[in-house]
Amino acid sequence: MIMARVCWLCEKEVADGTPLKNDVVIRFIREMKRKVGILKGNELVVCSEHLAKYAEKRKKFERNLVLYATVGVLIAIGLPVLPLVAGAPFEPMTICFSVLLGGMVLALSILNYVPALETGEEKGA
Ligand SMILES: [Zn+2]
Repeated sequence: MIMARVCWLCEKEVADGTPLKNDVVIRFIREMKRKVGILKGNELVVCSEHLAKYAEKRKKFERNLVLYATVGVLIAIGLPVLPLVAGAPFEPMTICFSVLLGGMVLALSILNYVPALETGEEKGA
């Protein structure tokens, strides 16, 4: 099967570009797409025209991810601990609920996921 090279930003077929890392999130998204039958099987790259724009998006995503991760962890840890500090009895359900909520916050950040480049050099643009 010959895969088309498609720019991740402009979604156009390009002759050349920097490949995106096929990481766990990308693989997950592709698996989901394959399941619902909309996977095109293209190779994802960033064309030279959009490298600068990509780097900007990636930077923003990384900042957001740190924020979401912090909030997620704070919820997952803070929610079960706070009532205990206040003297309430230990409630196992609170832990389940908190971890779920924290996970949901993390999942939100995946919605605007910006994958890394294969080469790992994001400052090059
Ligand atoms: Zn492009």
